[in-house]
Amino acid sequence: MSEYLGVEVNIASNDGAKQEFLEHAGQGRLSLQCCSACDQLRYPVMTACPFCTSLDWAWSEVSGWGTIYSYEYVMHPIHPAYRERAPYPIVLVELDEQRQFPGEHDGLRLISSLVDAEGAPAAQEACAIGARVEVEFADLGDGLALPRFRLAAEQPAEAELWRYPA
Ligand SMILES: [Zn+2]
Repeated sequence: MSEYLGVEVNIASNDGAKQEFLEHAGQGRLSLQCCSACDQLRYPVMTACPFCTSLDWAWSEVSGWGTIYSYEYVMHPIHPAYRERAPYPIVLVELDEQRQFPGEHDGLRLISSLVDAEGAPAAQEACAIGARVEVEFADLGDGLALPRFRLAAEQPAEAELWRYPA
């Protein structure tokens, strides 16, 4: 059985793409769907290309490097499983791949967790718009893993970061 924070991970039996996404993560790869017709990556996992509506696609491994585009710090957990982890950050990570597509202010963005070196929720002071992050994988069991992010060793200058006022 796969589980995260003690809660069983249920994937619909007809959602093979979601299963494969988590299997790739279980093998240490962040793989996204890439449209066979227009060659664009997309996320989250979906049936048709949002750019050209093609149903043909293949998995494409991405670097796992990105920048925090936005974030929030959750004080009140929305599920009992998160009780012990609160407060915790949720980050919107813009991947290095496919930036400024389809428009100048668009990009390939994933909602995820930001964790520290031990896998615990990153401290609020660690969260900043503009911070560089890299993917890591939380083991779910049964060969599955959940992609999440941690701060990269190299960070932009403090003046290039933005945090919610304390
Ligand atoms: Zn397409």
